[in-house]
Amino acid sequence: MRLSRSLIPTLKETPAEAQIASHRLMLRAGMIRQMASGIYAWLPTGYKVLNKIAQIVREEQDRAGAQEVLMPTIQSADLWRESGRYDAYGKEMLRITDRHDRELLYGPTNEEMITAIVRDNIKSYRDLPQWPYHIQWKFRDEVRPRFGVLRGREFLMKDAYSFDLDYEGAVRAYRTMMLAYMRTFQRIGITAIPMRADTGQIGGDLSHEFHILAPTGESGVFYDAAFETGDAMDATDVDAFYERMTTIYAATDEKHDTAVWDTIPAERRREGRGIEVGQIFYFGTKYSQAMDFAVTGPDGQKFYPEMGSYGIGISRLVGAIIEARHDEAGIIWPDAIAPFKAAILNLRQGDATTDALCEKLYAALGADALYDDREERAGQKFAEADLMGHPWQMIVGPRGAAAGIVELKRRATGERFELPVEEALAKVR
Ligand code: ATP
Ligand code: MG
Ligand code: MG
Ligand code: MG
Repeated sequence: MRLSRSLIPTLKETPAEAQIASHRLMLRAGMIRQMASGIYAWLPTGYKVLNKIAQIVREEQDRAGAQEVLMPTIQSADLWRESGRYDAYGKEMLRITDRHDRELLYGPTNEEMITAIVRDNIKSYRDLPQWPYHIQWKFRDEVRPRFGVLRGREFLMKDAYSFDLDYEGAVRAYRTMMLAYMRTFQRIGITAIPMRADTGQIGGDLSHEFHILAPTGESGVFYDAAFETGDAMDATDVDAFYERMTTIYAATDEKHDTAVWDTIPAERRREGRGIEVGQIFYFGTKYSQAMDFAVTGPDGQKFYPEMGSYGIGISRLVGAIIEARHDEAGIIWPDAIAPFKAAILNLRQGDATTDALCEKLYAALGADALYDDREERAGQKFAEADLMGHPWQMIVGPRGAAAGIVELKRRATGERFELPVEEALAKVR
């Protein structure tokens, strides 16, 4: 993308409404704009990050054996009457009436809808398990939307659901999802800790939330410093992995157990704040029973499938990653989800040799590069590249260009390298 022709409206001033770093930086870097309270438009760089996160989430859901579907954002109120949640959900649900006075709502989650779909199409135990998921916008009329995309009203969620034959199957689904989540976070390039959590509105008996540690987090968290995520990509045994993730103490304040806490050596006790970026639930037959989803078992008897649900806040992750990865100058994207791998900074726009070398780099990198081809001061180009957080800056001035040399800057460490074109390209790729 050429910066001179792009819709990346960076801001010099700090927007007054933004209280925390990620919100400030997303506005200043031109990633999002607020369209109404808690409702955002995603501009090109923001949308690229959102899509890259969604794609990693998708690949790990598929690897786990889940299948992607797409359910609508608008749901019928009757579905929610079946589960009894229509009244229970309260003011967070955005309720809509159509021209025929039919009651609809903008989905805050999809347990009811997916249960109805599977119920109407799956009749035999032979067709279980079913683990469908989708990546779709949700709406929750939060009392206090704040912190930008961290607590929006409209937000993008990946929600998966599992329907299994029995308890063992449901436990397998739950553990498989935990592994898929840890792989997802690892690939994105951030650390999220699974913590014992309350089941809240969704209900059920077993739940973990995944938290990115940050002082601005809205949840209180308690964990043992001995916790290590280790390498989730390498894990082959789902049960052993689950065991490893859950034996060392980690809990949100709602599930905090002081009796266990007191047994942990004082120097290992960590108390802090976390941003909830995902949550998984096992809730047995709560919805299958309420919505009368029964299938025929091997013995000809009807039974209710065992269920779980599994959410990741994809749009919240964008903000949460920035909370965890920024400095005074701006965002520091992990390579895997950066909008561009590199920014090409032309320090003398209009100088034939400099322009030619920049064009060459741009042609070689294509969509992976943001080419700053504006007629701006070098200082402004450096500052905006730091603000936007590209993993690499490829700095080209007339002197280097004449010698065929590119200066590379690594955003995360500040390291600099002066390299011939091909070597510079190889490093960035
Ligand atoms: P919170 O405790 O922050 O209100 P939640 O527990 O109500 O979140 P879940 O029902 O567990 O949310 O939904 C799954 C995921 O969706 C959450 O872990 C979070 O990452 C994301 N999410 C929930 N509410 C919002 C929101 N208002 N804005 C952005 N993401 C959200
Ligand atoms: Mg909530
Ligand atoms: Mg929560
Ligand atoms: Mg939750």
